[in-house]
Amino acid sequence: MSQDKQVAFVTGGNRGIGYELVKQLALKGFKVILASRDPKMGHEAVEKLKESGLDVSFVMLDVDDQESIRQAAITVSEKYGRLDVLINNAGVYLNVNEKLLTMDPSVLEKTMRTNFFGAYLVIHSFIPLMEKQGYGRIINVSSGYGAMREMAQQGVGAYKLSKLSLNGLTQLVSAEVKGDIKINAVCPGWVSTDMGGPSAPRTPKQAAESILWLATIGPEGPNGGFFRDGKRIDW
Ligand code: NAP
Repeated sequence: MSQDKQVAFVTGGNRGIGYELVKQLALKGFKVILASRDPKMGHEAVEKLKESGLDVSFVMLDVDDQESIRQAAITVSEKYGRLDVLINNAGVYLNVNEKLLTMDPSVLEKTMRTNFFGAYLVIHSFIPLMEKQGYGRIINVSSGYGAMREMAQQGVGAYKLSKLSLNGLTQLVSAEVKGDIKINAVCPGWVSTDMGGPSAPRTPKQAAESILWLATIGPEGPNGGFFRDGKRIDW
């Protein structure tokens, strides 16, 4: 079956920035698939959005589990037959203050697995759906912490390395894609979510704005860039 509406897929869509992105994309007229690793939280989030009349569905996806990513891509292909927008939003921020040299190496491994390798596997599994229609917009939700200059200062090492790698992935894939497929990275700023904490100055809605812009850019829009608030920032 092929869906007439454009289809968007958001990882980690059950809360925080991801939830807001699902909502805003649905308000823009997309059929939105809210991906969550926890079926209960995912279904609850979908039901809440459906109560407001939004066209949102749930798909189980744990970015740490390659088989769940493969299954999710099969489900989207069979149920909707297309994918127009993919947002790699799922992420973790673990043991932030520990130094790389003294922390348990499993923290780095786990952070890289979710924030970098998870996004890579999602792109790898879902891009055939975009290639089939010669169209797609992929946004990797990165962070200013992933900029190269951040590597000169200690702290937040695991998270910084994961987002640096995600940024590199964005550039490498942008050089590989063909047709009207574009992939960009975004720093959402410091956002008030479970990850950002209550003191963060930005709302998820503000954070979603530049991500939504990149989700809807035309064929002349950027490919392989790193943005904050719609402006290019240094890698
Ligand atoms: P959040 O409130 O902590 O939400 C994180 C989301 O990622 C949750 O839905 C979580 O699912 C999901 N997730 C984590 N590991 C996952 C996995 N293995 N598989 C599937 N989903 C997984 O964080 P947020 O602030 O909305 O952050 C969203 C993105 O923005 C992240 O990539 C983050 O690095 C980036 N970012 C945030 C800020 C900020 O200030 N908040 C700043 C810069 C960048 P569960 O509910 O199941 O845990």
